[in-house]
Amino acid sequence: MIRLLLTVFLATGVVTECNRTQQDEPQAAPRQEWVAGQAVTAEAIAGWGGEESCFAVLPIDSAMAACMVEGGSYPAEGALISLDELCCLRVLHVNADRDTMCGEMICNKAIAADLLDIFRELYHQSYPIERMVPIDEYGADDEQSMRANNSSSFCYRVIAGSTRLSKHASGMAVDLNPLYNPYVKTSNGKTVIQPSTAGPYVNRKADFPYKIDVNDEAYKQFVAHGFTWGGAWTSLKDYQHFEK
Ligand SMILES: [Zn+2]
Repeated sequence: MIRLLLTVFLATGVVTECNRTQQDEPQAAPRQEWVAGQAVTAEAIAGWGGEESCFAVLPIDSAMAACMVEGGSYPAEGALISLDELCCLRVLHVNADRDTMCGEMICNKAIAADLLDIFRELYHQSYPIERMVPIDEYGADDEQSMRANNSSSFCYRVIAGSTRLSKHASGMAVDLNPLYNPYVKTSNGKTVIQPSTAGPYVNRKADFPYKIDVNDEAYKQFVAHGFTWGGAWTSLKDYQHFEK
């Protein structure tokens, strides 16, 4: 009887939980307590084999793929990019309170090594990144993810105001600390700000945390790895955005 109950519980847990612990990934470093968006202690990191083992590139396994479809970042059919071309980065990052956080980011395999280098360096510099969880935790709603200041890469979507696929649809772009580094476009006297709650951060001469500019360390890291910055564009500004 006990065994039967346990089986039911496990089956239910597998079906209903879209967590990212990847317990079925034996090649990964200790996943059982790794939850993106949660703070970790130095003891936990040591228990996982040290900091370096917390920077890894994981394949998109079947459980993660199911969560991406359920969450909405990956369409159930018709996608022009296969899941084999994507991967899940696992990194440590430091938030503005100097907590060490577990981060996860789905991106294209082609930029995974670059991003590991960049996020490892930013971690060692205690560069503040508030949150890095799969956008599926916001139902793949970029506005909600940006309002939560969640840094992300892959999401199958079109460029705002067009029908063209975004660089995010191939996982070749990263949005970093997006609440404080909004997308700003002015045309015909009308200004669009995304997320819509980012009004206080449109004035880039003001001083506030998480601000990306050409003196910013994240800017320097991304550019050194061959990315272009949306804050340098002239037709619009996308201060959170780096793409390759
Ligand atoms: Zn972007």
